[in-house]
Amino acid sequence: MNTLDKGFNTKLIHAGAFEDEFGSATVPIYQTSTFKFKNAQHGADCFSGKSDGYIYTRIGNPTIRAFERNIAELENGYDGIATSSGMGAVSSVYMALLGAGSHIVSSDAVYGPARGILEQDFSRFNVEASFVNTSNTENILKAIRPNTKVLYIETPANPTIDITDIKKCAEIAKKHGLLLVVDNTFSSPYLQKPLDLGADVVLHSITKFINGHADIVGGIIVTKEEKIYKQIRHSMVYLGCNMDPTQAFMALRGVKTLAIRMERSQENAMKVAEFLANHPKIAWIKYPGLTTHPQHELAKKQMKGFGAVMSFGLKGGYKAGEKLMNNVHLALLAVSLGGVETLIQHPASMTHAAVSKENKLAAGITDDLVRFSVGIEDVNDIIEDLKNGLNKI
Ligand SMILES: *Cc1c(COP(=O)(O)O)cnc(C)c1O
Repeated sequence: MNTLDKGFNTKLIHAGAFEDEFGSATVPIYQTSTFKFKNAQHGADCFSGKSDGYIYTRIGNPTIRAFERNIAELENGYDGIATSSGMGAVSSVYMALLGAGSHIVSSDAVYGPARGILEQDFSRFNVEASFVNTSNTENILKAIRPNTKVLYIETPANPTIDITDIKKCAEIAKKHGLLLVVDNTFSSPYLQKPLDLGADVVLHSITKFINGHADIVGGIIVTKEEKIYKQIRHSMVYLGCNMDPTQAFMALRGVKTLAIRMERSQENAMKVAEFLANHPKIAWIKYPGLTTHPQHELAKKQMKGFGAVMSFGLKGGYKAGEKLMNNVHLALLAVSLGGVETLIQHPASMTHAAVSKENKLAAGITDDLVRFSVGIEDVNDIIEDLKNGLNKI
C-alpha cells in the first residue's frame, strides 16, 4: 500500500510493508544470509544496480528494508539505513561524513559513547571535535572553523534534557556549508521531525522509544537527500553494522504502538515531574514540560509533546540519589530509556562514565544528576514508588 499521503498513525502500522504470495498480514522474518540469483546475468545486474534484487543480508534484506522504509516515511525523509545498534548509526554517520583533517561541532551533552568515539578513536585519524552547549547557538558560531564539516546535535540532550533550536541550527549549517545531523532518540518522529526543520540527517537508537519494549538494540539513519543516503549506506555496509532480520521484525512490531505509548508515557511523565518539582527533598528538576525548564517555550514550538525523560538532583546530592536508586522497586535501576517500563539511572557513573569528569561538569552532567525515564505503568504506582524511595532518605 502506498502510505505516503496517509497520516502518521496509519504510516506507523503500514508504511514499508509489502505483499507476499501468501498474503501475510505482517512482514515475515527473512532469516537468510544470501539470496539466489535467477541466473548469472541477474546476479551481475543486482551488483551493477540495474536490478534492485537482494544480494546478501549485510547489503539488504526484505524485513530490514520494510523497517527502513517505515522510519523513512515517519521522518519525511528520502530513505532509511537500519543498523545493528544506535552506536552503529552514529559510527556510520561519522565514518561517512568525516575524514582526516575535518572538524565536527557537537552538543557537549550527547550520548556518552557518541562523544567518546570521537575523542578516543576518530581523533587517531586526525578528526577534530569541539563540544559546546548547543542550546545557546552563539556557542556553535564560535566553534565553527574553516575545516568544520558537520554540526551534530542531540535534542533533548542526554542526560541534561537541554533543548537545541533545530531550525536555527539548520540556518547556521546552511550558511557555513555544514551538514546538520540530529540524534532524535529522545523524541522519536512522533514528537519531532528534524528533517522538516532543515536537518540533513536524522538518527535514532531504536532501542529506546521506537522499539519501546527493552528487548532489542538497534539503530536507524534517515537522510533528506539521495546523495548523502548513498554515502552513509556505503559506510554502513563496509563497516558491517547492519541490522539483523529478526531485529527488524521486532522493531516493526514495536513501532506500530509508538504513538499510543508516547502519549501515555508523556502524560505520566508530566504528573511525575509535577510531583518531583513539589517535593521538599528535590533540589532541581529538568523536564521540558515544566515552565521552569530554560527552553520550555522552544520545546513547545519545536516538539509535539515533552517526552518521557527527565533529570533531577536531590538536596542531599549523590548520596541521597544513591539511596533513592536503591530504594525504588517499580522503577528498574537500569540504563536505557523510552520503554514501556520506568527506568532510573545515574549518568555520571553509568551511561556517561566514559566522559572525563572535567568534561562531564562542563556539560552539566553533575554528580547529583539522576535520570528518570517514565513508562506506561499506572502513574499512581510510579509516584508511590518514588515517594517511598524519597522517604528513605
Ligand atoms: C542509547 C542511545 C544511543 C546509542 O544507542 P544504542 O542502541 O545503545 O547503541 C545514541 N543516542 C542516544 C540519545 C541514546 O539514548
